[in-house]
Amino acid sequence: MAAVEEDVENLLEYDSDEDAKNAAEPGKPTKKKSEEATDGDIHSAVHLSSFRDFVLKPELVHAIADCGFEHPSEVQFEAIPQAILGTDVLCQAKSGMGKTAVFVLTVLQQLEPVAGEVSCVVLCHTRELAYQICHEFDRFKKYLPQVKAAVFYGGIPVQSNRDTLKNDPPHIVIGTPGRMLQLADEKALNMTKVKYFIVDECDRVLESLDMRKDVQKIFQMCPRDKQVQMFSATLAEGMRGICKKFMHNPLEIYINDGAKLTLHGLKQYYIELQEKEKNRKLVDLLDALEFNQVVVFVSAVRRASELNKVLADCNFPSISIHSGMPQEERIEKYKQFKDFQSRIMVATDVFGRGIDISRVNVVINYDMPDSSDQYLHRVGRAGRFGTKGLAISFVSSERDAKVLNDVQDRFAVRIETLPDQIDASTYMNA
Ligand code: ADP
Repeated sequence: MAAVEEDVENLLEYDSDEDAKNAAEPGKPTKKKSEEATDGDIHSAVHLSSFRDFVLKPELVHAIADCGFEHPSEVQFEAIPQAILGTDVLCQAKSGMGKTAVFVLTVLQQLEPVAGEVSCVVLCHTRELAYQICHEFDRFKKYLPQVKAAVFYGGIPVQSNRDTLKNDPPHIVIGTPGRMLQLADEKALNMTKVKYFIVDECDRVLESLDMRKDVQKIFQMCPRDKQVQMFSATLAEGMRGICKKFMHNPLEIYINDGAKLTLHGLKQYYIELQEKEKNRKLVDLLDALEFNQVVVFVSAVRRASELNKVLADCNFPSISIHSGMPQEERIEKYKQFKDFQSRIMVATDVFGRGIDISRVNVVINYDMPDSSDQYLHRVGRAGRFGTKGLAISFVSSERDAKVLNDVQDRFAVRIETLPDQIDASTYMNA
């Protein structure tokens, strides 16, 4: 439970170099788990344990079974037993390891719904992720009908949020920091009873000063005595320090740290080609590859819509999603893709983080991402939760080649040139 408001006051001016120093200070009270990477099958470390061992509410056990979860993932195994006791949690584990279920289950386990009181706030950096987290809450609270969750983000009329808060007040609110703060500032959303404060993709939320400021304000509106949990697939040392300023003696879980990060089950290749050859190559690949669903990442909004047109002209029924489209449309496209109404998605990085679409088994970086972090987030769309996947990156400049090298250094992986033929069994589940 946190009593750290003073520290948070200073966060905006926070110097991350200083943080790295602090974090390295000996004798600091931290409890680190799983600092050692586990490169193998994520099930193997914990295959003997069961969700039943956590002694969760029967309603949750029932919902977990309905979702088809048999064994906890490693991160769930490490975090859930302590988090349900109210311990603060700071957790970094690669995409697809089941971090969302950690906070969803542990909040639902602890939460006692009181009519008209918001007990839990979840903040994240994109609307799509907020929407998806709300969906996760809905799945797991299926047998807890009295618990209500609602999602709030910018781009849709704020009046509808006010109406929800007034007419059908939720116990759990999920949203982007800007809209949540707006609602809290105008007193439509009351934070004074919050007991659980969650930040997902916390490095992204806290690295932007604007968002960090909003998070900080919301944090301060909540009672001191609350459980704080933060999660991300990437968490640099400096950022860990910043996150810990919001927490009190957290359980720290860093799985598949730094250089040892690998994406188990994911085949990764690159192709060197010129910009003008990209369309041809993409079309050939879409023809040749077997895929359930594929995400094609591009670097800019315009390129997403243009490429989407090109694919439509070649009779590939794709849809695109990017930050240039109205909010309703973005969510609509996201839903369509999730519901398998389209098998090809052309997306900018707005789709790159945290989004879970389990049928995606191929990711194509039509444009190379800017950084190895972003690469990880994008390719993490494929090969989620121990399933197989394929990632192919187009390299057309020195800058692209550099990012590719950074990826190889950082994640200790050798990415080879795309062979003429790839055996589908290497990236498709049987
Ligand atoms: P992360 O937040 O770490 O990126 P998610 O929480 O989105 O990962 O989980 C990835 C996928 O794995 C989701 O489809 C989720 O439903 C599924 N999943 C999570 N935990 C388990 C589990 N213990 N067993 C089976 N599937 C799981």
